[in-house]
Amino acid sequence: MKMDFDIIIIGAGLVGLTTALACAHKGASICLLDAADPAKADDGRASAVAASSYAMFEHLGIAARLEGHVQPITDMLIADGAVGDVSPLTLHFDSADLGGPTGYMVENNQLKPALLTAVRDNENTTLQAPVHISNTDRDAKGVTVTLKDKTVLTASLLVAADGRNSSLRREAGIDVQRFGYDQKAVVTTFKHELPHDGVAHQIFFAGGPLALLPLTGQRCSIVWSDKARAIEAAMALDEMAFTAELSRRIGGSLGEISLCAPRQAFPLSLQMADCYTDQRLVLVGDAAHAIHPIAGQGLNMGLRDAAALADVVAESRFVGLDLGGAAIGDYEAWRNFDNKMLGMTTDMLNRLFSNNIAPLRHARRLGLAAVNRFKPAQTFFMKEAAGEAGHLPSLLRR
Ligand SMILES: Cc1cc2nc3c(=O)[nH]c(=O)nc-3n(C[C@H](O)[C@H](O)[C@H](O)COP(=O)(O)OP(=O)(O)OC[C@H]3O[C@@H](n4cnc5c(N)ncnc54)[C@H](O)[C@@H]3O)c2cc1C
Repeated sequence: MKMDFDIIIIGAGLVGLTTALACAHKGASICLLDAADPAKADDGRASAVAASSYAMFEHLGIAARLEGHVQPITDMLIADGAVGDVSPLTLHFDSADLGGPTGYMVENNQLKPALLTAVRDNENTTLQAPVHISNTDRDAKGVTVTLKDKTVLTASLLVAADGRNSSLRREAGIDVQRFGYDQKAVVTTFKHELPHDGVAHQIFFAGGPLALLPLTGQRCSIVWSDKARAIEAAMALDEMAFTAELSRRIGGSLGEISLCAPRQAFPLSLQMADCYTDQRLVLVGDAAHAIHPIAGQGLNMGLRDAAALADVVAESRFVGLDLGGAAIGDYEAWRNFDNKMLGMTTDMLNRLFSNNIAPLRHARRLGLAAVNRFKPAQTFFMKEAAGEAGHLPSLLRR
């Protein structure tokens, strides 16, 4: 086995796998390590992949592997509601105004195997999982990773893609700012009688938003956020009672509904690493930032990290610079500010919408109606949702 690489990535989640493919696409040799077997992961969530992130999946040959499993999001409807009282003052985004879908829904249990096979087929990437990592060492000369079986791997750069509890981040002494919401989200999938027509709905209730996300085959995924105790109560309901409560909240637009996947609950928090780099180390994905799922942007931020890092790596290779040297400062400057802004925006949206304070409720209903009538504001929000605002890394350009 080859022991010396340009980059070692620890964590083969959705972001680690994509980072491996993006950097390999720019010619770097990659070793990807995970403590668990990624082929055995079972994640009932579906991801809203922004149009720009999906463009990267096209460039990397992932989109072709997802054929038949991807549902374009053609419209978005945002409403402020209470149970049985969804406000008629809704905000409607029609993706025809953007010249294509704002994003694509794909189940994580489809996306992960597609990324995994692409990594296995790529001659620039080596995947080792599950492995036990005994030690990582970084100094001015390079990175050394020692496995429990005494295998020694070396590289110029180490990438931490090991999720929100990243041990690499902790070992590097990088602090995080963490704010736990008193909210959880329940995720499941249901079949429905009437077609969804590619429309994603976000309905804001006092305890948190309920997102209905269209999937292939007349199915929708839900992310229902609410106060932690309300979600615990919803999880304790039997399937019939849960379905009845869900049906009551979403109204009758999809006709009869029935669950077709188990329910999974997730605690919600906002977590931002103070910085994204240390000597020969960069953080990507949830290791660097974890946000509220209110706008479906957490994974998209990680995919953008992957694409930005790939550009920085390509630039260094082109001019013959050390991949783990000063150039990683460009990655920090590019991604840290962007991610903090998006994290703060989702936090603000959650605070503004997840309450039942009457003046705020009226203001936000009027606000939604106003944006709905003002085309430039609509276009602005749609570009943000499609991930097409700001300075785009090359792999995210259509
Ligand atoms: C309810 C919910 C809904 C969401 N919906 C969306 C959405 O619609 N769109 C969107 O963009 N985002 C969404 N997100 C966010 C998104 O799911 C995450 O941001 C994304 O999955 C993070 O991926 P990751 O690869 O960074 O981390 P992880 O998926 O946590 O992967 C980390 C990997 O590192 C490995 N690992 C950990 N520690 C070690 C170690 N010490 N050694 C070796 N390996 C290790 C793990 O085994 C794992 O494979 C949602 C989040 C939630 C909670």
